[in-house]
Amino acid sequence: MGEKILIVEDNKALAKIIAKKLSSALKMEVDVAYSMHEAKLFIARYNYFLALLDINLPDAPDGEIVDYAAKKGLHTIVLSSNIDKEFRKQILKKNIIDYVNKSGVNDIHYIIHIIQRLKKNRNHKVLVVDDSRVFRQTMQNILENLFFKVISVAHGEEAIGMLKSQPDISLVLTDYNMPVMDGLELTKQIRETYSKNELSILALSGNEDEEITALFLKHGANDYIKKPFSKEEFSCRVNNSVEALENIQLITNYANRDFLTGLFNRRYFFKEVNDYIDEIKQSSEQFALGMIDIDHFKQVNDTYGHDVGDKVITSLADILRSATNPQDVVARFGGEEFCVVLKNVNKHSAQEIFERLRENTEQFSYHVKDDEYIHFTISIGALMFHEDESLEENLNEADMLLYKAKNNGRNQLIFET
Ligand code: GH3
Ligand code: MG
Ligand code: MG
Repeated sequence: MGEKILIVEDNKALAKIIAKKLSSALKMEVDVAYSMHEAKLFIARYNYFLALLDINLPDAPDGEIVDYAAKKGLHTIVLSSNIDKEFRKQILKKNIIDYVNKSGVNDIHYIIHIIQRLKKNRNHKVLVVDDSRVFRQTMQNILENLFFKVISVAHGEEAIGMLKSQPDISLVLTDYNMPVMDGLELTKQIRETYSKNELSILALSGNEDEEITALFLKHGANDYIKKPFSKEEFSCRVNNSVEALENIQLITNYANRDFLTGLFNRRYFFKEVNDYIDEIKQSSEQFALGMIDIDHFKQVNDTYGHDVGDKVITSLADILRSATNPQDVVARFGGEEFCVVLKNVNKHSAQEIFERLRENTEQFSYHVKDDEYIHFTISIGALMFHEDESLEENLNEADMLLYKAKNNGRNQLIFET
């Protein structure tokens, strides 16, 4: 069930162009109405993710459609060809997300960009912290109109409590002057737990406190908004800060993962496993570690080519991932070499799991084409982690065991306890 967009625009040619571009760029269904009367029929019949509304329609010449859509709870972007300042102020007062000029190709790109942003905003929780009920409500309305999930509280201490129970909040919007705990203190406290790359903070401050904005930035706010703010500036700054957060997360993900298989890379493996070792230091938890290498992989490449070789590597990644628990660490160290950490296991079950990885691989066949299948096997050197030695030393020992497995004839597990 796809989501739909409604365009209401009496210039038929223009409406069709916009509809076509939106549906192909966004993969969303687009309905077009040429008058308010037609629009009402559509709105009565379907649910829309968003409506793009012309405010100059033959049967509604003064933006009546905008008020109608608001009454029906529709999220609205206004299409206009009028860029008059006074007009812009009037139209932004209404409950709309944005208004766009409808004259050129760039404007259509802008519309597409906004809609993509709005769709992603649904994945973000925003926490509004302000002691003024009126401001809180104003911000909440704007943010909900931008499709954010919004929670609002009246002061810093409440905000800290909320962050504890809702750790997936992406953005905090905080006022400065509040009872119990002010915005600056809140910012400092949040930064003890969350970095700027994990959670974005936007500070709101009145014009009178010049040095407060600087203090906010110094203590870890990502940006600030001066009160009183325009809805346009507010929306842009909020969208920008969420977009920046997403970009950082995307880049981090690229840096931590192997491009071919999506598994952790070697660098990230060390961080992840050393963190885990720290975490279980005081406990009696045991874990196992295995180095895995495909047997005679060169032959696969030589016989079928590098691309098929890559497919075999990806298949093994899938086997390793699906035969282990989600909390276990599966990493690709390079080439056709992998490392698996089985968390919280005794030696008996560790041996069983590694043996299962070997068997699953032996039983798997990769379909090249027609009736041509590739079978391949792996050798594994594994051990129970020796906590009196470093991770590097343990890996070296696993490597030695892997070497032994190869010399012993391959397709086998050598497990040392
Ligand atoms: P052994 O059983 O002793 O491990 O034999 P092998 O042929 O698997 O050993 P070797 O390590 O000598 O060969 C590994 C080959 O893997 C060499 C290299 O060309 C190839 N290789 C390394 N990385 C990749 C990759 O990302 N994709 C593909 N297709 N091949 C790779
Ligand atoms: Mg090999
Ligand atoms: Mg190798």
